[in-house]
Amino acid sequence: MIEKSCDFLCIGGGGAGVTAAIKASEKGAEVILLSKDHIGYGNTRIIGGIMAYGDPNTWEDFFRDIITGGDYLNNQELCRILAKEARDATILLEQFGGAIKRDSKGKISSDVLLQVGGHTSPRSLILPSTGPGLGQGLSSGVTRMENIETLEKTIVFDLLQEDGKVGGAVAYQFSTGEIIVIKAKKILLATGGGGWLYYPHTDTSQVSTGDGFALALNAGAELIDMELVQYIPFAITHPSGVMGIVIGEPFTAGPAGILKNVHGKDILPGVSTKTRAQVSNAIIMEVEKGNGTKYGGCLLDLKANKDHPQGKFIYQAYTQGMFKSFTDLIKTAYGEKAADWEESWDVYPSAHYFMGGVRINQWGEVKGTENLFACGEVTGGVHGANRLGSVSLTELFIFGKRAGEKAVTEIDNANHSEINKTLVNSQVANLKSMIGQKGKYRPIELKRELQKAMWEKVGPAREEKRLKEGLEIFSSIEEKFKDITIPEAIKYNTDLIDALELKLMIPVARSVAISALMRKESRGSHIRLDYPERDDRSWLKNIVLKKNESGDILADTRSVELTYLHPE
Ligand SMILES: Cc1cc2nc3c(=O)[nH]c(=O)nc-3n(C[C@H](O)[C@H](O)[C@H](O)COP(=O)(O)OP(=O)(O)OC[C@H]3O[C@@H](n4cnc5c(N)ncnc54)[C@H](O)[C@@H]3O)c2cc1C
Repeated sequence: MIEKSCDFLCIGGGGAGVTAAIKASEKGAEVILLSKDHIGYGNTRIIGGIMAYGDPNTWEDFFRDIITGGDYLNNQELCRILAKEARDATILLEQFGGAIKRDSKGKISSDVLLQVGGHTSPRSLILPSTGPGLGQGLSSGVTRMENIETLEKTIVFDLLQEDGKVGGAVAYQFSTGEIIVIKAKKILLATGGGGWLYYPHTDTSQVSTGDGFALALNAGAELIDMELVQYIPFAITHPSGVMGIVIGEPFTAGPAGILKNVHGKDILPGVSTKTRAQVSNAIIMEVEKGNGTKYGGCLLDLKANKDHPQGKFIYQAYTQGMFKSFTDLIKTAYGEKAADWEESWDVYPSAHYFMGGVRINQWGEVKGTENLFACGEVTGGVHGANRLGSVSLTELFIFGKRAGEKAVTEIDNANHSEINKTLVNSQVANLKSMIGQKGKYRPIELKRELQKAMWEKVGPAREEKRLKEGLEIFSSIEEKFKDITIPEAIKYNTDLIDALELKLMIPVARSVAISALMRKESRGSHIRLDYPERDDRSWLKNIVLKKNESGDILADTRSVELTYLHPE
C-alpha cells in the first residue's frame, strides 16, 4: 500500500477534472489528478466537436433555451452562470490548445456557428480536431503544470470520509497493482456520467460506469433527477458489433431529412429543429406502437438534402468534413448506398448523457458533505430533463474552473482531515480479500446482466411494472455479487476492476430506477408509458436521493425554484 497526500485531489481526467486541476494548480495548489484511463480521455475524448458559444449580448436567449430545452427542471441559478460565463469556456478551450473554426477574418461569426436542435439561433462552435484534438490539448495542459501529479489506470473505489467529512480516497492502480491511499484537503469528483450502464445501447466510453454518483451517495451527498438519462436519437440498430453507436443528431438530419416509421409515414415533421428528447421520444413511441422496423428502429431518410441549398452543407460534412467518421460507420453497418444517403438508415436512440447527478452549488461544492466538490457530467441540475447539444463542453469548462478556483481559496486555511485508520484498513482489507476470491459468478457476467436490465426495464420506454422488475433484478445481482470469483493477479486484474465498478453500478442503477418509478409523468427524456403526459401541476419537482444510515437509498421531492422563468 502506498500513501500520498496533496492539497487538491481531482478524481477524473476528462475535461471537467483537467480544468479544475489546472485552475487550482495555477493558484499554487499541489494537485493529484487521477483517472481510470488516460488524462484527457473519458467521454471528452470522443466528442463530436461542437461547443455552445456565449455571446455576452445574447446570454439571456441562451439561458432561456437551456431552460425550455430542459422542460423547466433545471437549476436556474446554475444555468444563469452557464449562460453568462459561456464566453470564458471558449477562452479556456483555446488556452488548452483546442482549435475552433473561425471565419475568414479570424472571427467567430454566424458564418461558422451551427444551429443545433433546441437552440433558437446559431450558437454552436465547431471544433475541427474533435475529441482527440481536445483530449491532446488537455493532456498537454496538465503536463505543463509542475504541481500536478498524475495517476493513470487508477480507479478510486471509496472515498475516505466520516459523517460526510471527506478527507481523501482509496484507489487501485491496475497498471502497477498498487493500492493507493490519498489524503487531500479538498476532493473533486469529475468522474463523468453513467452511459455504460446501458451497454451495448450507448455511444459513451466504457469508463462511464457512474462511479462518482455512488461515491458521492456513500459520502452523504444528494443526487438529483437520476431518472433523466439522455438518449441520442440516431444510433445504429444493427449489426451487433456497431449497435448503439451514434451517427447523428437532430440538426444533422438537415432541412430536408425525414424520419419515418416502417410504413413510410413521416413521424416528426421538422425533425432537424427538434431537441434530442423530442426526436428520441418520437422514435421510441413509434416502436412501442409496433411501427418499428424488424431491427426495432425507425428510418432516417436524408436523400433530399443532397439537392437542397442548405442540406448540401450537412451532406458535405458527412462525406468530407467533421462527420466523416459517422459515414465510415454507416458504410460498415448499412452499406455504400446508405453512406451516400441514397438509402435510409435504421436508427434507434442510444444512452448518451446523464442529466441527473450530484447536487452542487454554484461553486461546485457538494451539498451535505464537507471538502467535496464536483463538476462536469457527474453533477445534476444544469440541463433539467434534456440537455441541448453542445452545452456539455461549455458547462464543464465553466464549472471545472469555478470548482478548482474555489477549492484553492480554502486550502491555505485547511488541514488534512483526521483519517480514521481503522476505516482505511478495512477498505484496503476488503479489496485485498476480493483478490483470489473463489465464487460462482464472474463480475463481467453480472455487469452484463445489470446492463441488460437497465436497457430493458429502466431504458427509453418506462412503466411501473418494468421498473419494479428492474429493481428486483438489481437486488438479485447484489446477492450474486457476494459469490463472485476473481483471479489472484495483482496487475491489470480486469475481473477486479469489473467487480469494483459493478459494486458502484448497482446503487447507480437503483437510483435511476427509484427516481424513474417516482416521477409519474413524461418529461424531457423520461418517458412513462403509463403516464404519457407532462404534468406541471404535480411534477415541477426535482427528485432528490440520499442514503440513510442503513445504506438504503431514500427518495424525496423538492419544488423546482422557478426564480426567473416559468412555463407558459
Ligand atoms: C459520442 C459522444 C459525443 C459527444 N459530443 C459532444 C459534443 O460535441 N459537445 C458537447 O458539448 N458534448 C458532447 N458530448 C458530451 C460530453 O462528451 C461529456 O458530457 C463530457 O465530455 C463529460 O466530461 P467530464 O469531464 O465530466 O467526464 P469524462 O470526460 O467522461 O471524464 C470522466 C473521467 O473520470 C474518470 N473516472 C471515472 N470513474 C473513475 C473512478 N472511479 N476512479 C478514477 N477515475 C474515474 C474516467 O476515467 C475519465 O477520465 C458527447 C458525448 C458522447 C458520448
